[in-house]
Parts: sequence; C-alpha cells; structure tokens
Amino acid sequence: MTIQHQPDDEPQAAIPQETVGASAPGAAEATQPDDERFMRLALQEAAAAAELGEVPIGAVVVHNGEVVAQAHNLRETDADPSAHAEFSALVAASRALGRWRLTGCTVYVTLEPCLMCAGLMVNARIDRCVFGAYDPKGGALGTLYNVSHDPRLNHEFEVTGGVLEDECAAQLKAFFAQLREKRRAAKKARRE
Ligand SMILES: [Zn+2]
Repeated sequence: MTIQHQPDDEPQAAIPQETVGASAPGAAEATQPDDERFMRLALQEAAAAAELGEVPIGAVVVHNGEVVAQAHNLRETDADPSAHAEFSALVAASRALGRWRLTGCTVYVTLEPCLMCAGLMVNARIDRCVFGAYDPKGGALGTLYNVSHDPRLNHEFEVTGGVLEDECAAQLKAFFAQLREKRRAAKKARRE
C-alpha cells in the first residue's frame, strides 16, 4: 500500500516531557486508577491502525467503568478526513448508548486530539478526555488550543494528558521511521 502523508502531517509526539505538559493549561488534571488500563486498550487500537498502514492512533470510550466503543484511525482506508480514532469512537459510543449527549463518558486516545475531535467532544458533552502523547503540531487540548476549557464555549470537560506518554509517542515514532525507510527504499529502487 502506498501511503502519501505529507511531511507536516507527522505529529512530533516524541518531544521531551519537560518541554511540554507541565505548562499545558488544559492538561493538568490528575490521573485516575484505571487510566493506564484503558490507555493500553487505546494503544492496541493504534497498533491495529499501523497494521493497515494508517498513522497509529487509537481510542476507546468508557462509560461507568466499561468500554462502550473503540476505534482506530482509518483516514486512508476510508478516504475520510473525519476518520480520526477518537471521532469514530465518539460516534460509535453514541450509537451504543442511543444518545448524542455523552455525559458520563471518558475518551481515551493515544495522541492529543485535534481541533475537529476536541470540537466534537464539546458537542458530545463528554466528562473527560485522557490522552497519551502531546501534539505540538495540532493538539487542541492544551497545546495549540485549549478547547476543553474555553469559557466562550457552552461545555467544559476535564483533561489528563501524558498517560503512557512514552509508549504512545514511541508507537508513532516507530511508524514514521518505518515510513521514511520505505520511502528511501522506493527512491533507491527507482534509481536502480
Ligand atoms: Zn482529530
């Protein structure tokens, strides 16, 4: 499969912790006991995306301590700009619960959500979002924007960033390293 991500598509998720996170205003809330367990499920979803040649991002939605939806990035496969992991997981959670209002739900996602997904979280009235790696190129929950805590919007929600950050970032880094390697090999093959 040919993957045609633009170079600036790559989230720079592997930056050192001390340069981010601590100062991100929306990402200060404390972790909860099951956060790592659910983030591991999101990481499994992300791995399923990588197997399809998709950027490895995974998400799960939890309600009353139970997973009600899980999804991974399918943007290339579905040729759909909205097919981000957490966006699809939110839609699936609404279908599972039979309501658009996702009060009482926590979204776990391996990379800090973008503006579109953070916007959907506001519209879905979620309680909380927990993410793994910070995204300095697109993060909308504390890094570039602070969509979860914007008093102009009609809903605010809790955010905890940096849960299993190293694993989430490493998965993305490995994927893009492999992609660059494949491109180099393809270029070399064309020259020969
Ligand atoms: Zn998104």
